[in-house]
Amino acid sequence: MDRAEILDLLFATPYAALRERAEKELCQRKGSHVFVRGLIEFSNICRRNCRYCGLRAQNRRLPRYTLSREEILDASVQAVRQGADTIVLQSGEYAVNPHWLADVIESIVQKLHVPVTLCVGEQPREAYALWKEAGAERYLMKHETADAALYARLHPGYTLEDRLKHLHTLRELGYEIGSGFMVGLPGQDPASLADDILLARDLRVGMCGAGPFIPQKDTPLGNSTSGSAEMTLRVLAVLRLALPWANLPATTALATVDPSKGQKDGLLAGANVLMPGFTPLKYQSSYCLYDHKNRVSMECARRTIEEAGRTHQLKPWL
Ligand code: SAH
Ligand code: SF4
Repeated sequence: MDRAEILDLLFATPYAALRERAEKELCQRKGSHVFVRGLIEFSNICRRNCRYCGLRAQNRRLPRYTLSREEILDASVQAVRQGADTIVLQSGEYAVNPHWLADVIESIVQKLHVPVTLCVGEQPREAYALWKEAGAERYLMKHETADAALYARLHPGYTLEDRLKHLHTLRELGYEIGSGFMVGLPGQDPASLADDILLARDLRVGMCGAGPFIPQKDTPLGNSTSGSAEMTLRVLAVLRLALPWANLPATTALATVDPSKGQKDGLLAGANVLMPGFTPLKYQSSYCLYDHKNRVSMECARRTIEEAGRTHQLKPWL
């Protein structure tokens, strides 16, 4: 599938026809099963200043927190008891003590026997290696946008080239890598979404998370307009066709721009992953990547999967 074909699917193909193709591909390659990842947002400390994100270092209004080892383990137990098949540990990008995180990873893997996925930003190679050794199998690091000039504008002091180097290092160390990007970023040329899809394909990512940009009031982009659910669904369907092997989440951001049916529509467009949150209640409002962030619970995930006519392995006593 070349760029011209991707552009045609993104912008000229009627949605019903696009969705039908994606559904067929999903059915053949992935079946009806939806993976459920338990997301634990263990710290909102961040040294970066991504212009779209509420956790940016310059947002002084945000109370910062880091969960203790015990709090993370308790949340992981909850997630696995309720049926999560993987624990995703996510945080802002900060100088996390690599040995502390290695110990947390090891404890989760040994106690709960589930894979651990990390999403903690750009870190030293030694730390990636240590965490791999401790049992982490996957690493999520979205490329955010394949437009290098836009990437540089949105991430002061950082380049797309560096981001991709980190993804290559992670791959080299044996991680299954996940990338992704935002749809409807201020200043984004819609045609560059085709490059996002091609980049994810070239990276041969195991996972690709595409979600709408949503403004956060305490950021420089706080008055911008959100990306649309409609465009995000088209992108998801094209991702399913262009990267048929990949696991694609129906993101929380999609559930935020369309709370009543965003994630169900995401599953129908070709997604096969949901990521309900297990961050303890008292910290949830401080993990404000964007405004009005919807909280996806395990109950919501189960309902969404059932409404979409798909299957899951969530325990019936939930
Ligand atoms: N700090 C790590 C992980 C946490 S941020 C990192 O940046 O990789 C996780 C994801 O949240 C980012 O990859 C980004 O795509 C998304 N995000 C942040 N701000 C957002 C916003 N305003 N709208 C939509 N998604 C956003
Ligand atoms: Fe920090 Fe990630 Fe937000 Fe950027 S997107 S400011 S790295 S938490």
